Amino acid sequence: MYDLIIIGGGPAGLTAGIYAVRYGLNTIVLEKDVLPGQIAATDLIENYTGFTAISGPELMQRFKEHAQTVGVKIESAEVSSIISEDGRKVVMTDTGNLVSKALVIATGANPKKLGIPGEKEFMGKGVSYCATCDAPFYKGKTVMVIGGGESALTDALILSNIVKKVYIVHRRDKLRASMILQERVSKKPNIEIIWDNVPEEIQGKTGVENIILRNLKTGEMNTLPVEGVFVYIGILPNTEFIDVKKNSSGFILTNEKLETSVQGIYAAGDCRDTTIWQVVTAVADGAVAAVSAHEYIMNLELEQ
Ligand code: NAP
Repeated sequence: MYDLIIIGGGPAGLTAGIYAVRYGLNTIVLEKDVLPGQIAATDLIENYTGFTAISGPELMQRFKEHAQTVGVKIESAEVSSIISEDGRKVVMTDTGNLVSKALVIATGANPKKLGIPGEKEFMGKGVSYCATCDAPFYKGKTVMVIGGGESALTDALILSNIVKKVYIVHRRDKLRASMILQERVSKKPNIEIIWDNVPEEIQGKTGVENIILRNLKTGEMNTLPVEGVFVYIGILPNTEFIDVKKNSSGFILTNEKLETSVQGIYAAGDCRDTTIWQVVTAVADGAVAAVSAHEYIMNLELEQ
């Protein structure tokens, strides 16, 4: 039996692993991807203390190397469900069942989908959620970015260096993204912002050819020719497999010790209900969750 199983090997999960190992806990991190986390799909990170700029995959690689160097055991497995019984947690995975005294859920989040006609059909054929991954396919073309947050503007800037023209479509007349990104976007001659609009349908034959937009103020519909649509309308947590209290969007509810509604189960990083979802906060969450789990395990042992 493990002391601690950490589900998810992103910034939160690996930091929890590093802390747990330092506390002498018999720990394993379960992860389904080789280089996990939204961070691995992030071009540049400029707000992680100590690095003025570092690429997402490089920072993730450094986290992984750090964890492995201090002895964090990382195994590839996909968790399907969890049973909490008699103070034990049974974790069911595609490679077998594992048992532990405590759990940290650090499964992160994935991009939200628009849910409009054409989105599913053209996924990978003109519809993308990651400019870092797909921008080179759109060299010299006209593309559209949907959303007004950090992700939308970051990726619009990446695209603007490769494609001919980038439209940013935002549902309001004010962007949500930080001022520094807004200023950078405003200086790019090939980025145009379309305010107060939402996409209604993505059209094409073998690939994306047009997008239909609806103006939320006037109701007017417009068709714009684009060859790529990049969607950044927020994130959804990977929490379906775990039965703990969540908010209406599925983010796990925790207290300040990152305890969930089930004793001995902690949540850290993008999968939990919090105010910002950043690498720096995910890392901090990992540390808090591991320290709380250690305290819980010590108390369990004292009771026995
Ligand atoms: P976000 O901050 O939730 O922004 C989503 C954007 O999409 C908002 O502008 C929102 O409009 C719009 N939107 C939401 N639903 C929509 C819909 N159905 N149709 C059209 N537009 C819709 O999401 P995000 O940019 O992916 O960021 C997620 C989290 O990651 C945030 O906490 C962000 O700070 C963080 N992040 C950090 C970094 C970094 O630190 N380097 C980079 C990227 C992301 P409204 O503004 O009207 O709500």
